[in-house]
Amino acid sequence: MSSLVERLRARTDKKPVYHLDDSDDDDFAPRKPGTAQETLEKIIRDDAKEGACQACGEGENLLSCDTCNYTYHPKCLIPPLKAPFPTKWRCPECVSPLNDIEKILDCEMRPTVASEDDASKLGSKQIFVKQYLVKWKGLSYLHCTWIPEKEFLKAYKSNSRLKTKINNFNKQMASNNSAEDEYVPIRPEWTTVDRIIASRGEDDEMEYLVKYKELSYDECYWEFESDISTFQSEIERFNSFQSRSRRASSSKQKSIIRDPVDPKKQKEFQQYDRTPEFLTGGVLHQYQLEGLNFLRFSWSKQTHVILADEMGLGKTIQSIAFLASLYEEGLYPFLVVAPLSTLRNWRGSLQPGHPR
Ligand SMILES: [Zn+2]
Ligand SMILES: [Zn+2]
Repeated sequence: MSSLVERLRARTDKKPVYHLDDSDDDDFAPRKPGTAQETLEKIIRDDAKEGACQACGEGENLLSCDTCNYTYHPKCLIPPLKAPFPTKWRCPECVSPLNDIEKILDCEMRPTVASEDDASKLGSKQIFVKQYLVKWKGLSYLHCTWIPEKEFLKAYKSNSRLKTKINNFNKQMASNNSAEDEYVPIRPEWTTVDRIIASRGEDDEMEYLVKYKELSYDECYWEFESDISTFQSEIERFNSFQSRSRRASSSKQKSIIRDPVDPKKQKEFQQYDRTPEFLTGGVLHQYQLEGLNFLRFSWSKQTHVILADEMGLGKTIQSIAFLASLYEEGLYPFLVVAPLSTLRNWRGSLQPGHPR
């Protein structure tokens, strides 16, 4: 038996060849998707609340489980389910919701009701049990939930990775305890609305795409208005920005007679001899004006360019001036790719009707 190193070396000598080969598939009989599932009878649970939500007991707008006769309100689920709802949904009794855990944030002995089955005992007899604070996939830190350890023990049977997650978390907590900094499971900033990016839905089902403080843009989440109602000023700021840009673009579009020909080609190159009037708040330096004209000339020739210069000489202002000049001619919108830290400046600079 050769050593592991020798075997590895022998393998690296031979370069693997990758090619598309469907022949393997022939070994299997063609399988129709979902046929096995569909022939199964639905599980009949005797305690199912007929035509009512299994969690709150109320009716209307219920989501039916695909594999049993339970029904739920999407909002009554833990974690709450958001539209668009899946066509084949399975209730928490059939599929453990713990499969949707993104990460475990904290662990504590917390009070719980002694018997979940008897609602009359609610609050009367509390016992302390070990619970984990979880963050769910696709939901922000606003929707983190404490889950009793016994729920995890139940879910281990069907999801062995969950056990690894818990073990890793416990190990991490043990090492954190020795560290000097106090561990904060959810920083307050992560639930503080930084800005609102988009909206969808209408009336009381209105949702906003929220960027949270200290979290990056890939951690933006859709939230119902009611969940972020304490940030009313941010909602209003977003809504007024939306209506302003709608107004601006509709009036601007009307005033410009658009030619079916590509506007880039059709437009003659027009040189600026001095800082154009639409640029407010300062005058361009001569070399910046040159830069602006260079960008405009290249644009008219449909040539890609890179504006390179030393730091602090105003490449950004030249770029903004260039985009503003196009905006004056009714050519927009623009896609600006910029470092995260400067995104806000760009957005401010290019607000319709306010090129700076
Ligand atoms: Zn309900
Ligand atoms: Zn079910």
